[in-house]
Amino acid sequence: MQNPHAVSQKQLSQVAELLRPEYSDHSERFDRAIEILKEPATVLEGTLSIEMDDGSSRDFTAYRSQHDDSRGPYKGGIRFHQDVSLSEVKALSTWMTWKCSVTGIPYGGGKGGIIVDPKELSEAELQRLSRAYARFIAPEIGAWRDVPAPDVNTNGQIMAWMADEYQLWLNEQGVVQENPLAAFTGKPISLGGSQGREEATGYGGVVVLDALAQKKGWKPAETTIAIQGFGNVGYWFAYHAHQRGYRVVAVSDSRGGAYVESGFNPDDALKTKKADGSLETFANAHGEYITNDALLELPVTVLVPAALEGVIHEKNAAEIQAQVVIEMANGPTTDTADEILHSNDVLVVPDVLANAGGVTTSYFEWVQNLHGYCWKRQEVIDKLEPLMQEAFEKMWKALENHETTGRMATYLQAVKQVVDAMMLRGRV
Ligand code: NAD
Repeated sequence: MQNPHAVSQKQLSQVAELLRPEYSDHSERFDRAIEILKEPATVLEGTLSIEMDDGSSRDFTAYRSQHDDSRGPYKGGIRFHQDVSLSEVKALSTWMTWKCSVTGIPYGGGKGGIIVDPKELSEAELQRLSRAYARFIAPEIGAWRDVPAPDVNTNGQIMAWMADEYQLWLNEQGVVQENPLAAFTGKPISLGGSQGREEATGYGGVVVLDALAQKKGWKPAETTIAIQGFGNVGYWFAYHAHQRGYRVVAVSDSRGGAYVESGFNPDDALKTKKADGSLETFANAHGEYITNDALLELPVTVLVPAALEGVIHEKNAAEIQAQVVIEMANGPTTDTADEILHSNDVLVVPDVLANAGGVTTSYFEWVQNLHGYCWKRQEVIDKLEPLMQEAFEKMWKALENHETTGRMATYLQAVKQVVDAMMLRGRV
């Protein structure tokens, strides 16, 4: 099992080696900046006690890591999961700093979590835990300080409870001028959420796919795509890829996947899945029902992991036949697998770029909340597309100038912007 914080530190050291020549006039300041960025600026750790439905009380460990705010307020999700750890939260907050920098949105990185299996809680208990968490982080968050959002096992309803509790807390402090809705994103539309947010992550990934296809000279109809995961991100990626004429040949859920060599309309697969809870009927009617492991090794142009972490690892990386992996899930490729793919000439478009459409649209939600705007879906999409294209172009340019991986090429740009901001502020 990798230690995520150690992985994020190792990646930063690797990027620093590539970036250092650009800072030859300020090498000491540069080294100080890199050392600072190896650890989050602040980590909150606490125990939340909540009353359970049977009248007993239960304690939960909670974290919030604020990595760096040189480019703007901390930004990042809150995860409710039994495997949450301090190391994971620190690493995820570091990766959020890079992700926000990749599309140029004015945020730093943050991440939070509670060690809990939310499936064991009733809705009332979940609400009490969410409100307790909001109070725990309240003194350290705010629209201009740290803006949390949903992550694994948290959603718009949980953000709504947290924003409400935060407002109660502000009232108790006598603070009336702050807009509590702008302190959380990923809220439901009827409580200040943004149009277009639901599809934004998948959509942004397809903008990257399109930009890549142009560079590679791929024709959409001949470009085959296998997608692991058919939830929010996987479905919207499949939908928009199909809309743009790409050949989606495989999608999967936790049980297995449908593989249809000639391609299919993802909405047809979704309809059958909704009707009988699995992709098996659709798969058997049109092609083959395959395992998730087999999906990863299909002979396709593009592989899109859009479900879990660590699914491409040292044991299967050499079997990947795709020319490009577009990481829509967070952290689907292990460190070792990244190196194997690179040596096999498989380009990995990293998560911090490929799935940045989500946080970028969260930024649009924040802007709307702060200014009282209520943009239409198309306005949101029109703002998102050029930011994703520009982020991809930067990675591509860095790849032309350095013999390195897609991940390092992306980090080069992202880390440079953060270091520059630290220097401009005089922090180093
Ligand atoms: P989701 O819960 O909507 O969908 C997850 C999908 O993965 C489901 O189809 C589920 O069946 C499938 N799945 C579960 N276990 C699986 C397994 N063992 N093998 C294959 N598939 C499996 O989640 P989501 O919002 O689509 O998020 C997917 C990934 O994208 C996560 O890594 C998440 O952190 C990342 N991400 C999401 C967003 C967003 O806006 N939703 C933004 C950035 C990153």
